[in-house]
Amino acid sequence: EADFAMYKAKESGRNQIHFYNPDMQRLFLERVQIENDLLTAINAGQIEVHYQLQVHEDGTIRGAEALARWRHPTKGFISPDQFIGIAEDSGQIQELGSWIFIKACSDLKDQIQPYVDPEFVMAINVSSLQIFEKEFTDTIQQQIETTGVNPSQVKIEITESAIIDGPEDIHEKMLTLKALGVRFSLDDFGTGYSSLTSLKNLPIDELKIDRSFVHDVLLDRNSSAIAKSVIVLAQSLGLEVVAEGIETNSQMTALKDMGCHAFQGYLFSKPLPLDDFLSIIKNTR
Ligand code: C2E
Ligand code: MG
Ligand code: MG
Ligand code: MG
Repeated sequence: EADFAMYKAKESGRNQIHFYNPDMQRLFLERVQIENDLLTAINAGQIEVHYQLQVHEDGTIRGAEALARWRHPTKGFISPDQFIGIAEDSGQIQELGSWIFIKACSDLKDQIQPYVDPEFVMAINVSSLQIFEKEFTDTIQQQIETTGVNPSQVKIEITESAIIDGPEDIHEKMLTLKALGVRFSLDDFGTGYSSLTSLKNLPIDELKIDRSFVHDVLLDRNSSAIAKSVIVLAQSLGLEVVAEGIETNSQMTALKDMGCHAFQGYLFSKPLPLDDFLSIIKNTR
């Protein structure tokens, strides 16, 4: 992440912003432009939600993860790793997050459900800033009602930062949504600093093994040791565990041998636009 450090020029006596160098100025201006473009991106139809399959070890469909995409008219594809962070910094994450949540729920209800089991679960990433909002539970509850989706088919993916940095009422918020049937998954597990205590206290249903460990599972003893520990931890706490970023059969076999039975990754499918996703699930049926 670039450092957008600025300083106010003392010598000029005005609140003029100076940049340390032209590179920094260019990065800053580009970011301001992206932030500005994001204001109109939703209404301009530039934000899309793509779906990536999750499968059981026998290849049957378990569910999908909803992943946001931004087709910028001039800059081309902007990665969610980039624009989600910008939306968080600029205060646009509530609106963007709501739009994505509603889109994923209504796609499930209206388009996907006819072709899948009632056990199919849609995993939706939610920023910690959304969870920290006072209205978070009301908003989610309302969006579930409006879209008519079955709450038990919705899984909210949160990251460890949500539970470490968050105010204490996150526990209560999660319980409220859990009472509706909503599930929770802890994304990128192993990369953050959440204590084992928070796992004990929070109503989490699933741990998601970060794809960095999956990538190195056959290459690096430490990565495979961490993957194995996450699986054992999930088993002892009675949680589900899913491995993300599976690209090869041998990665899947290694994780299967360690006791992981749910998978997501390019080996099965990339994140796909709704129509392509629908063709896959229609053909698998
Ligand atoms: P994530 O939630 O951990 O999502 C998994 C990422 O791994 C996705 O990147 C996905 O495309 C990628 N991936 C899946 N399978 C493979 C594989 O086999 N190999 C490789 N190399 N990569 C794989 P993506 O779509 O670029 O999203 C990046 C991150 O942006 C997500 O990580 C998530 O943290 C965030 N994000 C995406 N959509 C949303 C959203 O709607 N809301 C929020 N708050 N965050 C989102
Ligand atoms: Mg995720
Ligand atoms: Mg992840
Ligand atoms: Mg990630």
